[in-house]
Amino acid sequence: MVSVIIFLGSPGSGKGTQASKLSDAFGYEHISIGDMLRKNVEEKSDLGLKASEYIDSGRLVPDDLIIKVVSSFFEDFVSNIEGKVILDGFPRTEPQALALEKIIRELRINLSSVLYLDVDDKEVISRLSERGRKDDEPQLVINRLNVYRDQTEPLLKYYNNQGVLKEIDGNKSPDLVFSEISELIKVEA
Ligand code: ADP
Repeated sequence: MVSVIIFLGSPGSGKGTQASKLSDAFGYEHISIGDMLRKNVEEKSDLGLKASEYIDSGRLVPDDLIIKVVSSFFEDFVSNIEGKVILDGFPRTEPQALALEKIIRELRINLSSVLYLDVDDKEVISRLSERGRKDDEPQLVINRLNVYRDQTEPLLKYYNNQGVLKEIDGNKSPDLVFSEISELIKVEA
């Protein structure tokens, strides 16, 4: 059976960092929607050409485009009988969460946990200003934090109601956060 971990948290909460560490340590397939989009932008694919204006203004790429990409990933991936996937950057909206629920049901995937990295805004802003990616300039960071509050934060309640949400203090150092997550994952396994 294929099982999935979802990472939730604001921009700069460390989802990508922790997902890479988990994938190295425990063999998860790390799917970063942001990395995948940036690669498409670089290659000027159809998706990349459509996505770039959204990314560059700190908005979310439209749900239908993102859902299509994630669905086709899982359709290919479930041909593996066994497999572990970390979804980093999906879902970020309620329609995306509903689409994922449908994918999980239809492809008989196990949603093993939803990890929420809780980080203070002050810490987020300081991390993103150091990272220096094109969409990390101050006004875009503010846009992305607002988009996160409006569209993604409601998902915390959605997954909490399903009893699968696990909250982690993401203000600590990457290694401390990683050991906390590792303990949670081991309990699951
Ligand atoms: P961060 O978590 O720091 O915002 P990401 O690499 O996860 O960085 O995302 C970068 C950008 O890619 C987002 O601001 C958004 O425009 C786009 N993006 C990523 N994931 C999604 C998604 N699930 N739905 C829509 N847009 C997305």
